[in-house]
Amino acid sequence: MNQKGFKSVLCIGLRSENALFGFIGCDCVTHIRHWSDTDLMRLKLVGEIIANALKNVFYKQRLEQAQQQLLLVNQELQSQANLDSLTDIANRRCFDQTLLNEIQRATRSQQPLSLIICDIDYFKRYNDNHGHQQGDEVLKQVAQTLHNLCKRQGDLAARYGGEEFAIVLPCIDKNHCLKFARLLQQQIGQLNILHPNSNIADHLSIGCYSCKPDKHTTADMLILAADSALYVAKKSGRNQIQVFDEEH
Ligand code: GH3
Ligand code: MG
Ligand code: MG
Repeated sequence: MNQKGFKSVLCIGLRSENALFGFIGCDCVTHIRHWSDTDLMRLKLVGEIIANALKNVFYKQRLEQAQQQLLLVNQELQSQANLDSLTDIANRRCFDQTLLNEIQRATRSQQPLSLIICDIDYFKRYNDNHGHQQGDEVLKQVAQTLHNLCKRQGDLAARYGGEEFAIVLPCIDKNHCLKFARLLQQQIGQLNILHPNSNIADHLSIGCYSCKPDKHTTADMLILAADSALYVAKKSGRNQIQVFDEEH
Protein backbone atom coordinates (compact mmCIF):
# COMPACT_ATOMS: atom_id res chain seq x y z
CA MET A 1 0.00 0.00 0.00
CA ASN A 2 2.83 2.36 0.99
CA GLN A 3 4.57 1.77 -2.36
CA LYS A 4 1.54 3.20 -4.17
CA GLY A 5 1.34 6.09 -1.74
CA PHE A 6 -1.97 5.04 -0.18
CA LYS A 7 -2.33 5.88 3.46
CA SER A 8 -5.82 4.48 3.93
CA VAL A 9 -8.17 2.42 1.79
CA LEU A 10 -11.87 1.63 2.19
CA CYS A 11 -13.09 -1.16 -0.09
CA ILE A 12 -16.25 -3.24 -0.50
CA GLY A 13 -17.19 -6.12 -2.81
CA LEU A 14 -19.85 -5.87 -5.53
CA ARG A 15 -22.20 -8.88 -5.54
CA SER A 16 -24.88 -10.19 -7.80
CA GLU A 17 -26.93 -13.26 -6.87
CA ASN A 18 -24.44 -13.98 -4.08
CA ALA A 19 -21.48 -14.02 -6.46
CA LEU A 20 -18.69 -11.50 -6.10
CA PHE A 21 -18.11 -9.75 -9.41
CA GLY A 22 -15.97 -6.74 -8.50
CA PHE A 23 -14.75 -4.23 -5.96
CA ILE A 24 -15.26 -0.57 -5.32
CA GLY A 25 -13.29 1.55 -2.93
CA CYS A 26 -11.74 4.86 -2.11
CA ASP A 27 -8.31 5.72 -0.76
CA CYS A 28 -6.48 8.49 0.94
CA VAL A 29 -2.87 9.30 -0.06
CA THR A 30 -2.16 12.43 2.01
CA HIS A 31 -2.84 11.10 5.50
CA ILE A 32 -4.15 8.16 7.45
CA ARG A 33 -7.91 8.39 7.48
CA HIS A 34 -10.21 6.72 9.95
CA TRP A 35 -13.24 5.78 7.89
CA SER A 36 -16.53 6.51 9.63
CA ASP A 37 -19.71 4.42 9.55
CA THR A 38 -21.17 7.12 7.29
CA ASP A 39 -18.23 6.71 4.86
CA LEU A 40 -18.89 2.98 4.81
CA MET A 41 -22.64 3.48 4.38
CA ARG A 42 -22.10 5.90 1.49
CA LEU A 43 -19.67 3.57 -0.23
CA LYS A 44 -22.12 0.69 0.19
CA LEU A 45 -24.84 2.84 -1.34
CA VAL A 46 -22.66 3.75 -4.32
CA GLY A 47 -21.68 0.07 -4.60
CA GLU A 48 -25.35 -0.96 -4.70
CA ILE A 49 -26.15 1.64 -7.35
CA ILE A 50 -23.25 0.45 -9.53
CA ALA A 51 -24.10 -3.23 -8.93
CA ASN A 52 -27.75 -2.63 -9.88
CA ALA A 53 -26.79 -0.69 -12.99
CA LEU A 54 -24.42 -3.48 -14.08
CA LYS A 55 -27.05 -6.15 -13.26
CA ASN A 56 -29.53 -4.30 -15.47
CA VAL A 57 -27.02 -4.31 -18.31
CA PHE A 58 -26.34 -8.06 -17.82
CA TYR A 59 -30.08 -8.87 -17.68
CA LYS A 60 -30.76 -6.79 -20.77
CA GLN A 61 -28.00 -8.61 -22.66
CA ARG A 62 -29.29 -12.00 -21.48
CA LEU A 63 -32.84 -11.04 -22.44
CA GLU A 64 -31.69 -9.97 -25.91
CA GLN A 65 -29.77 -13.24 -26.35
CA ALA A 66 -32.82 -15.25 -25.21
CA GLN A 67 -35.06 -13.30 -27.62
CA GLN A 68 -32.62 -13.92 -30.46
CA GLN A 69 -32.53 -17.65 -29.69
CA LEU A 70 -36.32 -17.76 -29.49
CA LEU A 71 -36.53 -16.07 -32.87
CA LEU A 72 -34.17 -18.64 -34.42
CA VAL A 73 -36.06 -21.55 -32.83
CA ASN A 74 -39.34 -20.12 -34.11
CA GLN A 75 -37.93 -19.74 -37.62
CA GLU A 76 -36.64 -23.32 -37.50
CA LEU A 77 -40.01 -24.60 -36.24
CA GLN A 78 -41.81 -22.65 -38.95
CA SER A 79 -39.62 -24.10 -41.70
CA GLN A 80 -39.89 -27.62 -40.21
CA ALA A 81 -43.68 -27.28 -40.15
CA ASN A 82 -43.61 -26.60 -43.89
CA LEU A 83 -41.21 -29.37 -44.89
CA ASP A 84 -41.92 -32.98 -45.76
CA SER A 85 -39.83 -35.06 -43.38
CA LEU A 86 -38.85 -37.73 -45.94
CA THR A 87 -38.01 -35.66 -49.00
CA ASP A 88 -37.15 -32.31 -47.40
CA ILE A 89 -39.20 -30.37 -49.94
CA ALA A 90 -42.40 -28.45 -49.14
CA ASN A 91 -45.20 -30.49 -47.59
CA ARG A 92 -48.94 -30.46 -48.21
CA ARG A 93 -49.52 -27.76 -45.61
CA CYS A 94 -47.03 -25.46 -47.34
CA PHE A 95 -48.53 -26.30 -50.73
CA ASP A 96 -52.08 -25.46 -49.56
CA GLN A 97 -50.97 -22.10 -48.19
CA THR A 98 -48.85 -21.27 -51.25
CA LEU A 99 -51.61 -22.15 -53.69
CA LEU A 100 -54.05 -19.94 -51.81
CA ASN A 101 -51.59 -17.03 -51.76
CA GLU A 102 -50.76 -17.42 -55.44
CA ILE A 103 -54.44 -17.52 -56.46
CA GLN A 104 -54.94 -14.23 -54.63
CA ARG A 105 -51.79 -12.73 -56.11
CA ALA A 106 -52.69 -13.85 -59.65
CA THR A 107 -56.21 -12.44 -59.21
CA ARG A 108 -54.83 -9.06 -58.16
CA SER A 109 -52.20 -8.91 -60.90
CA GLN A 110 -54.40 -10.59 -63.55
CA GLN A 111 -51.62 -13.04 -64.33
CA PRO A 112 -52.00 -16.72 -65.25
CA LEU A 113 -51.32 -19.46 -62.74
CA SER A 114 -50.47 -23.10 -63.42
CA LEU A 115 -50.67 -26.20 -61.32
CA ILE A 116 -49.08 -29.57 -62.07
CA ILE A 117 -49.90 -32.73 -60.15
CA CYS A 118 -47.81 -35.78 -60.94
CA ASP A 119 -47.80 -39.34 -59.68
CA ILE A 120 -45.13 -42.04 -60.00
CA ASP A 121 -46.46 -44.92 -62.05
CA TYR A 122 -46.79 -48.38 -60.51
CA PHE A 123 -44.94 -47.35 -57.42
CA LYS A 124 -46.49 -50.09 -55.35
CA ARG A 125 -44.79 -52.61 -57.60
CA TYR A 126 -41.51 -50.75 -57.19
CA ASN A 127 -41.77 -51.09 -53.42
CA ASP A 128 -42.78 -54.73 -53.72
CA ASN A 129 -39.76 -55.50 -55.88
CA HIS A 130 -37.10 -53.31 -54.29
CA GLY A 131 -38.31 -52.77 -50.77
CA HIS A 132 -39.82 -49.75 -49.10
CA GLN A 133 -36.47 -48.22 -48.21
CA GLN A 134 -35.34 -48.18 -51.81
CA GLY A 135 -38.75 -46.71 -52.64
CA ASP A 136 -38.06 -43.92 -50.17
CA GLU A 137 -34.80 -43.18 -51.98
CA VAL A 138 -36.69 -42.85 -55.27
CA LEU A 139 -39.15 -40.42 -53.67
CA LYS A 140 -36.23 -38.33 -52.43
CA GLN A 141 -34.60 -38.28 -55.88
CA VAL A 142 -37.82 -37.35 -57.66
CA ALA A 143 -38.58 -34.67 -55.05
CA GLN A 144 -35.12 -33.13 -55.41
CA THR A 145 -35.41 -33.12 -59.21
CA LEU A 146 -38.75 -31.30 -59.07
CA HIS A 147 -37.43 -28.90 -56.47
CA ASN A 148 -34.37 -28.08 -58.60
CA LEU A 149 -36.61 -27.34 -61.57
CA CYS A 150 -38.45 -24.67 -59.61
CA LYS A 151 -35.91 -21.95 -60.17
CA ARG A 152 -38.03 -18.83 -60.33
CA GLN A 153 -39.08 -17.07 -57.17
CA GLY A 154 -42.62 -18.21 -56.34
CA ASP A 155 -42.34 -21.61 -58.03
CA LEU A 156 -43.03 -24.35 -55.53
CA ALA A 157 -42.59 -28.13 -55.69
CA ALA A 158 -44.31 -29.98 -52.86
CA ARG A 159 -44.96 -33.56 -51.82
CA TYR A 160 -48.71 -33.73 -52.19
CA GLY A 161 -49.20 -37.23 -50.86
CA GLY A 162 -47.42 -40.64 -50.84
CA GLU A 163 -45.92 -40.78 -54.35
CA GLU A 164 -47.70 -37.71 -55.65
CA PHE A 165 -46.12 -34.30 -56.10
CA ALA A 166 -47.57 -30.88 -56.91
CA ILE A 167 -45.94 -27.88 -58.53
CA VAL A 168 -47.30 -24.34 -58.35
CA LEU A 169 -46.13 -22.09 -61.18
CA PRO A 170 -47.13 -18.43 -60.86
CA CYS A 171 -47.37 -16.30 -64.04
CA ILE A 172 -47.14 -19.40 -66.23
CA ASP A 173 -49.75 -19.96 -68.95
CA LYS A 174 -50.86 -23.19 -70.61
CA ASN A 175 -48.06 -23.31 -73.21
CA HIS A 176 -45.27 -22.63 -70.74
CA CYS A 177 -46.78 -25.06 -68.29
CA LEU A 178 -46.68 -27.78 -70.95
CA LYS A 179 -43.03 -26.95 -71.69
CA PHE A 180 -42.25 -27.18 -67.98
CA ALA A 181 -44.05 -30.54 -67.75
CA ARG A 182 -42.01 -31.88 -70.70
CA LEU A 183 -38.78 -30.77 -69.07
CA LEU A 184 -39.90 -32.39 -65.84
CA GLN A 185 -40.70 -35.63 -67.65
CA GLN A 186 -37.30 -35.56 -69.36
CA GLN A 187 -35.40 -34.95 -66.11
CA ILE A 188 -37.23 -37.69 -64.25
CA GLY A 189 -36.45 -40.01 -67.17
CA GLN A 190 -32.78 -39.12 -66.82
CA LEU A 191 -32.79 -40.36 -63.24
CA ASN A 192 -32.91 -43.85 -64.79
CA ILE A 193 -34.83 -45.31 -61.92
CA LEU A 194 -34.72 -49.01 -62.73
CA HIS A 195 -37.81 -51.10 -62.46
CA PRO A 196 -36.82 -54.41 -64.03
CA ASN A 197 -39.72 -56.51 -62.82
CA SER A 198 -42.54 -54.40 -64.16
CA ASN A 199 -43.26 -52.31 -67.22
CA ILE A 200 -43.15 -48.53 -67.82
CA ALA A 201 -42.87 -48.17 -64.10
CA ASP A 202 -40.08 -45.66 -63.80
CA HIS A 203 -41.91 -42.61 -65.05
CA LEU A 204 -44.44 -40.07 -64.11
CA SER A 205 -48.01 -39.43 -65.05
CA ILE A 206 -48.53 -35.69 -65.17
CA GLY A 207 -51.68 -33.58 -65.00
CA CYS A 208 -51.55 -29.87 -65.83
CA TYR A 209 -54.00 -27.04 -65.35
CA SER A 210 -53.54 -23.37 -66.20
CA CYS A 211 -55.98 -20.53 -65.68
CA LYS A 212 -56.34 -16.82 -65.07
CA PRO A 213 -57.76 -16.77 -61.55
CA ASP A 214 -60.50 -14.33 -60.57
CA LYS A 215 -62.32 -13.73 -57.31
CA HIS A 216 -64.39 -16.90 -57.81
CA THR A 217 -61.38 -19.20 -58.25
CA THR A 218 -60.68 -21.58 -55.37
CA ALA A 219 -57.74 -23.86 -54.62
CA ASP A 220 -60.09 -26.86 -54.87
CA MET A 221 -60.99 -25.87 -58.44
CA LEU A 222 -57.33 -25.89 -59.50
CA ILE A 223 -56.54 -29.14 -57.70
CA LEU A 224 -59.62 -30.85 -59.12
CA ALA A 225 -58.72 -29.79 -62.67
CA ALA A 226 -55.05 -30.87 -62.44
CA ASP A 227 -56.12 -34.10 -60.76
CA SER A 228 -58.64 -34.82 -63.56
CA ALA A 229 -55.86 -34.36 -66.12
CA LEU A 230 -53.68 -36.74 -64.09
CA TYR A 231 -56.53 -39.25 -64.05
CA VAL A 232 -56.75 -39.07 -67.85
CA ALA A 233 -52.97 -39.63 -68.06
CA LYS A 234 -53.30 -42.75 -65.92
CA LYS A 235 -56.29 -44.03 -67.90
CA SER A 236 -54.52 -43.41 -71.20
CA GLY A 237 -51.57 -45.68 -70.38
CA ARG A 238 -49.52 -43.70 -67.81
CA ASN A 239 -46.06 -42.13 -68.31
CA GLN A 240 -47.48 -39.12 -70.12
CA ILE A 241 -48.61 -35.52 -69.80
CA GLN A 242 -52.25 -34.48 -69.98
CA VAL A 243 -53.55 -30.94 -69.88
CA PHE A 244 -56.97 -30.27 -68.39
CA ASP A 245 -59.43 -29.52 -71.12
CA GLU A 246 -61.92 -26.78 -70.17
CA GLU A 247 -64.36 -28.10 -72.79
CA HIS A 248 -65.08 -31.34 -70.90
P1 GH3 B 1 -50.42 -45.95 -60.30
O1 GH3 B 1 -49.59 -46.06 -61.51
O2 GH3 B 1 -51.86 -46.18 -60.55
O3 GH3 B 1 -50.20 -44.66 -59.58
O4 GH3 B 1 -49.98 -47.13 -59.33
P2 GH3 B 1 -49.21 -47.01 -57.97
O5 GH3 B 1 -48.78 -48.36 -57.57
O6 GH3 B 1 -48.16 -46.00 -58.07
O7 GH3 B 1 -50.32 -46.42 -57.04
P3 GH3 B 1 -51.00 -47.01 -55.75
O8 GH3 B 1 -51.92 -45.90 -55.27
O9 GH3 B 1 -51.62 -48.33 -56.02
O10 GH3 B 1 -49.83 -47.21 -54.74
C1 GH3 B 1 -49.09 -46.16 -54.24
C2 GH3 B 1 -47.84 -46.73 -53.66
O11 GH3 B 1 -47.01 -45.70 -53.15
C3 GH3 B 1 -48.13 -47.68 -52.53
C4 GH3 B 1 -47.37 -47.12 -51.37
O12 GH3 B 1 -46.70 -48.11 -50.63
C5 GH3 B 1 -46.35 -46.21 -52.04
N1 GH3 B 1 -45.95 -45.15 -51.14
C6 GH3 B 1 -46.68 -44.13 -50.65
N2 GH3 B 1 -45.94 -43.37 -49.80
C7 GH3 B 1 -44.72 -43.95 -49.73
C8 GH3 B 1 -43.52 -43.66 -49.00
O13 GH3 B 1 -43.42 -42.69 -48.25
N3 GH3 B 1 -42.46 -44.47 -49.21
C9 GH3 B 1 -42.51 -45.54 -50.06
N4 GH3 B 1 -41.44 -46.29 -50.21
N5 GH3 B 1 -43.63 -45.86 -50.74
C10 GH3 B 1 -44.71 -45.07 -50.58
MG1 MG C 1 -48.65 -44.00 -58.45
MG1 MG D 1 -50.86 -42.11 -56.13
